[in-house]
Amino acid sequence: GYSEEDVVGKTHNMLRHPSVPDSFYQQMWETISVGKTWHGNIKNITKKGDVIWVKVHIVPDYNEKAEMIGFISFREDVTDKKHIEEIATKDEMSGLYNRRFYKEIIKKEINRAKRANSNITYMMIDIDVFKQYNDTYGHQEGDNVIKQVSNAIQKSLMRGSDYAFRMGGEEFLVLIFNEDTANSKKLAERIRSNIEALKIPHIENRASEYVTISIGIVVANPQTNSINEADLYKQSDEALYCAKQQGRNRVAVYKYDV
Ligand code: GH3
Ligand code: MG
Ligand code: MG
Repeated sequence: GYSEEDVVGKTHNMLRHPSVPDSFYQQMWETISVGKTWHGNIKNITKKGDVIWVKVHIVPDYNEKAEMIGFISFREDVTDKKHIEEIATKDEMSGLYNRRFYKEIIKKEINRAKRANSNITYMMIDIDVFKQYNDTYGHQEGDNVIKQVSNAIQKSLMRGSDYAFRMGGEEFLVLIFNEDTANSKKLAERIRSNIEALKIPHIENRASEYVTISIGIVVANPQTNSINEADLYKQSDEALYCAKQQGRNRVAVYKYDV
């Protein structure tokens, strides 16, 4: 959207989107300042303030004395492609990843953890007595709760490598990598308390005066525990069942027989 006069003599900073962290650009500069080519997708901002995704290649530019004098950047607008990807992988109502995307990546992620000999934390989350919530406050309000809970789950996650899915209805799944049982449990506990802290009234909930969730988690090392997707699903579901049985609004951990 910019004209030539708008951009000549300015730095690329003017295209920067506020959500892109400094570390992203640091890594880019570390690559190109030593004369290497950098390529990747960058989220930028147009003159009007809209988001634009560009696929970028940056190569060094040299003079006849072989001195680096600058960079040449090739940019292709891939906004439409990003948009289609987003629709295919995200749940529209919650903004979380959808079940289809889960199916697409879960085997790959288990294999990746297996090769790296690292843990997977598989966290199954279900809203407590939600049927009653709909009956008391209406389905529309229920949908609203699902959105707020989704948002709070997403906000509770810190790392780019964590995944949050809406698996259907009022059921969610969180995948974490490289954490032991103690830390995984702490994170689950934080998600649980963040939901209760939303303070959404739910008079039919015996576990609290507010909307709450129960969480079943299993922490496994795919290499040493030789587990597959079906095992993780079953074990976390079992733990979730225990959390519900024990009174809801709590976290239960699946324990391996040793
Ligand atoms: P529990 O504590 O045992 O989980 O009790 P529950 O009532 O939540 O039981 P369950 O998880 O089996 O029931 C889920 C209910 O959530 C069924 C349905 O009324 C409601 N629900 C599922 N999907 C949606 C949705 O997209 N929107 C709304 N408003 N409600 C939904
Ligand atoms: Mg359910
Ligand atoms: Mg439920």
